[in-house]
This record gives sequence, C-alpha cells and structure tokens, in this order.
Amino acid sequence: MVNVSVRLRHNRYRLDREAHILVNSEECLNCPHRACLTACPAQCYLPHAEDGVAFNYEACLECGTCLLICDQGALIWRYPRGGCGVSFRFS
Ligand code: SF4
Repeated sequence: MVNVSVRLRHNRYRLDREAHILVNSEECLNCPHRACLTACPAQCYLPHAEDGVAFNYEACLECGTCLLICDQGALIWRYPRGGCGVSFRFS
C-alpha cells in the first residue's frame, strides 16, 4: 500500500506570483489551539517563535481545510490564478 507522502510526490505545482492564502499572524498569537499546524495535510503551517505560525504556500493542496478550521479569522483564502497552483497526478 502506498502512503500519502509518496502519493503527494507525484503532484506538480506552478507557483502564483503572490500567495493565495494570507495569514494575519497577529491573530495567530491569540489562538488557543493552532489547529492548522496538525490539520494541514501538506504541512504548510509550522510553529513559529513565541506561539506564532509560519506559513508556506508553495506546497498547498487547495483543500480548504485551514479556512474551515481557523476560527480566529486569521486567513484570507482564495484559489491561485488560473493555470497556477497544484496539479494532481494519479499514479
Ligand atoms: Fe494546507 Fe489545505 Fe490550507 Fe492548503 S488549503 S494550506 S493544503 S490546509
């Protein structure tokens, strides 16, 4: 059986020139759970110094989980421009 990380390696990404998700890190400082750190399947969110959150949009799968799970209103979320973002490969 092939695990998720192996399957994700087959995806291709075309980066948009601007991040399609913006994180207001001021709001993250007040977050009691920082659920994005564990909920994101691509591990785009990482712990940052002093309870902050660092975000890296390059490996985003555009699943929308972070937008649903963030109850602090810290995210501005949109899809990348047409032709940019993830392309899923089924292998
Ligand atoms: Fe991670 Fe999905 Fe949010 Fe992208 S949309 S950052 S893959 S949780």
